[in-house]
Amino acid sequence: MSLTDAQLAEIDAARAATAPTRRATVPALEALLFQPVPVLDHGFVRVIDYMGDDAAIVQAARVSYGRGTRRVSEDAGLIRYLMRHRHSTPFEMCEIKYHVKLPIFVARQWIRHRTANVNEYSARYSVLDREFYIPAPEHLAAQSTANRQGRGAVLEGAEAERVLDLLRDDAARCHDHYAEMLNETAEGAPRDPARHGLARELARMNLPLNTYTQWYWKTDLHNLLNFLSLRADAHAQHEIRVYAEAMLASLAAWVPIAHQAFLDYRMGAVSFSAPMLAVLRRMLAGEAVGQPDSGLSKREWAELTQALDRPG
Ligand SMILES: Cc1cc2nc3c(=O)[nH]c(=O)nc-3n(C[C@H](O)[C@H](O)[C@H](O)COP(=O)(O)OP(=O)(O)OC[C@H]3O[C@@H](n4cnc5c(N)ncnc54)[C@H](O)[C@@H]3O)c2cc1C
Repeated sequence: MSLTDAQLAEIDAARAATAPTRRATVPALEALLFQPVPVLDHGFVRVIDYMGDDAAIVQAARVSYGRGTRRVSEDAGLIRYLMRHRHSTPFEMCEIKYHVKLPIFVARQWIRHRTANVNEYSARYSVLDREFYIPAPEHLAAQSTANRQGRGAVLEGAEAERVLDLLRDDAARCHDHYAEMLNETAEGAPRDPARHGLARELARMNLPLNTYTQWYWKTDLHNLLNFLSLRADAHAQHEIRVYAEAMLASLAAWVPIAHQAFLDYRMGAVSFSAPMLAVLRRMLAGEAVGQPDSGLSKREWAELTQALDRPG
């Protein structure tokens, strides 16, 4: 993560400013506010603002005149009940806004989550920094043979070195050509006064997908949980999962009761289909069920045995 001295000073100034408020605040999240959490080689995620807390979920669920809270155990029980039974609207009463710096190919996955408000850095207006995501050697993996959307063994030796060289060289060359087409120095002055330079909105098309972009991303707690359940999951690509994991930490600071309920009833939970449940009942009754007589497809059987931590 590379921030300029001026950017760091802006963050410090924002963190130093405080104002009295009647609104709910969460000390653990206030402590993190504005602080960039490094992700990947040059990226970060930081919380810019938030609205509501665990009590706001309870308040909305009870449609209260005051804070709506009772004993902590009662509030936790209600939040856990709402999470368990997918009563989602009370969670929509909390909002959070992040500033994220991420490679463009990660942004393409992220932007598929339509239930958020997004404002991205404009590469029509500004010049993109010379920063590219280059995977750490332990994340440079071969195509998985078992999963078409996954990775297999880590590349090693000369093959890994060659891949890293190609990634670095191609990115550097593309950015050199971008700068040449723009005909601009880093300070925005013409490099060659005899040339016009290509418009920024056109020159950017030469940049690779590992170029970093930035955006402000705001969503409500219900849709944040949907995002995290998909992107902090083991099936998500590593490069977006590390962002989701950093955001999970901010969730724990912000709404600790909802966070724990989310881990218990969503992230750590498994849902069984009706045919799977029928097989489970037969197993619990002592029957030795195998895939051929289970009525499940091979894939469903594999999912069931994996969830139960049993040999397939
Ligand atoms: C592991 C993984 C692999 C993926 N692979 C692919 C892939 O190969 N190709 C691909 O194209 N995508 C892929 N995706 C993206 C995926 O299909 C979803 O587009 C993405 O995860 C956003 O999820 P979402 O729709 O639940 O989120 P959001 O867009 O935030 O929507 C949340 C919920 O709001 C509702 N909603 C939002 N907008 C609408 C609407 N216009 N109409 C009706 N309901 C709406 C839906 O109930 C939706 O579930 C993948 C995602 C994951 C996690």
